[in-house]
Amino acid sequence: MNIAKNTVVTFSYVLKKTTGEEVDRAEPDDPMSYLHGHQNILLGLEQALEGGTIGDKLDVNLSAANAYGVRVEGREQRVPIKHLMAKPKKLVKGAMVKVNTEQGPRDATVVKAGKFNVDIDTNHPLAGVDLCFSVAIHEVREATPEEISHGHAHGIGGHHH
Ligand code: ZN
Repeated sequence: MNIAKNTVVTFSYVLKKTTGEEVDRAEPDDPMSYLHGHQNILLGLEQALEGGTIGDKLDVNLSAANAYGVRVEGREQRVPIKHLMAKPKKLVKGAMVKVNTEQGPRDATVVKAGKFNVDIDTNHPLAGVDLCFSVAIHEVREATPEEISHGHAHGIGGHHH
């Protein structure tokens, strides 16, 4: 079976910046599943996987614009530390935090931390970064009617209710 709309795809991957730095991975023994054609993964990756099948291995290069977007200047702001929704133990430059914005909760990166306030950048941490996914396709199957109505994959590597 080939990957098409309303198939469930199980795959493992290594995600690297084009500079070689690893960002994320899903190991072959702990793969990820998604419902194809419902924008559950980055569109550029979904398009590259279209038509693929079990056993395929491919490298997918995505420019920043096709991945997490380009960096937008002026997205730095100072917020009280107590207003952060989620933060690591140490607030250091580059640490990830979560803030509530008018558009809802957003991931942000620490630019500078003070005693009571922190300067954050609400660009996505991977904004402006060109990425390469090295993907291996483990399984392709038809989605169940329930998965299609939910808009996501169930089972191993997918959603659990
Ligand atoms: Zn569901």
